Amino acid sequence: MRSDSRWTVAALREEVLAFRDARDWAQFHQPKDLALALSIEAAEVLELFRFKSDAEVRAQVEKRDVTDLGHELADVLYWVLLLSHETGIDLAQAMEEKLAFNARRYPVELSRGRKEKYTILHGYQEAAEPTGESLPEEDPDEPDPPVLKPTLMPGGPRRKVAPLLRRSGDCAEDSGSGLESAGAPASPA
Ligand SMILES: [Mg+2]
Repeated sequence: MRSDSRWTVAALREEVLAFRDARDWAQFHQPKDLALALSIEAAEVLELFRFKSDAEVRAQVEKRDVTDLGHELADVLYWVLLLSHETGIDLAQAMEEKLAFNARRYPVELSRGRKEKYTILHGYQEAAEPTGESLPEEDPDEPDPPVLKPTLMPGGPRRKVAPLLRRSGDCAEDSGSGLESAGAPASPA
């Protein structure tokens, strides 16, 4: 039987491509379609946890009742492998880069045992604390504020980057938009 410890990403990708190409499904696999399929399969992973308590899930795992979860994870991996192939992304390299990036955002000495976002850990943003204050009531006599026209920055809208990360060159842009996160499909599309 195969094992993660003896199989490579490249071998998995070759197998997935052979599966796809034997069925002539590449014609349906534009990057957008692959991204959609990836997201749909990720949702199927969530479906397995719906309406289950943590204790119920833990008991299921202890009984090794995880076949369905394994198959859904394989579906996700299938699309990750295809999307990375179609976009020329080397997954091992991308993972290396992303872990290094996250290690700078979340240094062990700041983040160990903590769940706060890096903006809070680095002191860019204060942790939200409930103040007990409610929002002021609207004054019906006050005129509506002027409607401002949005201006588009050259190169399109960008998210604000934390100053320290920008200074140190650690963070060119927020990683949330990156291709971060690809099983046997029920259908080609
Ligand atoms: Mg599935």
